[in-house]
Amino acid sequence: MNAIEFDRAQIEALVRQAIRSGGLGSGNAALGAATGNPPGWVDGKPNLRVSISARHVHLTDEHVETLFGRGATLEPEKDLYQDGFYAAKQTVMVVGPRRRMLPSVRVLGPTRSASQVELAFTDSISLGIDAPVRHSGHIDGTPGCVLVGPAGSVQLEQGVIRAARHVHMNFADAAHYGVENGDMMRLKITSHECTTVFEDVLVRADEAAKLEVHIDTDEGNACHLDGASKVELTKSGCGCEK
Ligand SMILES: [Zn+2]
Repeated sequence: MNAIEFDRAQIEALVRQAIRSGGLGSGNAALGAATGNPPGWVDGKPNLRVSISARHVHLTDEHVETLFGRGATLEPEKDLYQDGFYAAKQTVMVVGPRRRMLPSVRVLGPTRSASQVELAFTDSISLGIDAPVRHSGHIDGTPGCVLVGPAGSVQLEQGVIRAARHVHMNFADAAHYGVENGDMMRLKITSHECTTVFEDVLVRADEAAKLEVHIDTDEGNACHLDGASKVELTKSGCGCEK
């Protein structure tokens, strides 16, 4: 096989892969995988993304059935940037004390071993729940709430949190930044008249993640993320600003 034939065969394979996985984003991911690039890398480099994670709910399989009916499963509506994760078609009503509520909060999939409600500070104020800042999954001792779906309701004894800012990355990204899972990083968002530096950005590294910072709606609004001209992620305490 000469070089040109090889290239063509490889390109055809990539195109088929991209078509199978659907969409431009996942097509690029397929390209990365096939060329040996780490997930999410573009042109041989990490490709930083900063996303606003709006209020949402994670549910157990059991709670999905209670809320949406026997045999119900989550129906994916929109894929998230992280492979395998999605926004479901389903929403639930989140009810706090004194009947204050958020009427339709999106469920994210896949299901988990414990149900959890992730709110921004403003959401928690309107709900009347003093939700602590926690990293996803660390819900011991957090306040509960009631979830209401079309087929039933669930009393959560705990699980209402303000999700702590964090950055997903794979091990190649971690090596690039000189950080490890559990380290803290600094994120600078440059935007007209509201440039903001976020400290305490927790590194969540695993094999398959794509480089992506998750901040909540309050944080995203504070720095006017939609109008940002530059985003920079650096290792905390690196001394690079001195
Ligand atoms: Zn996240």
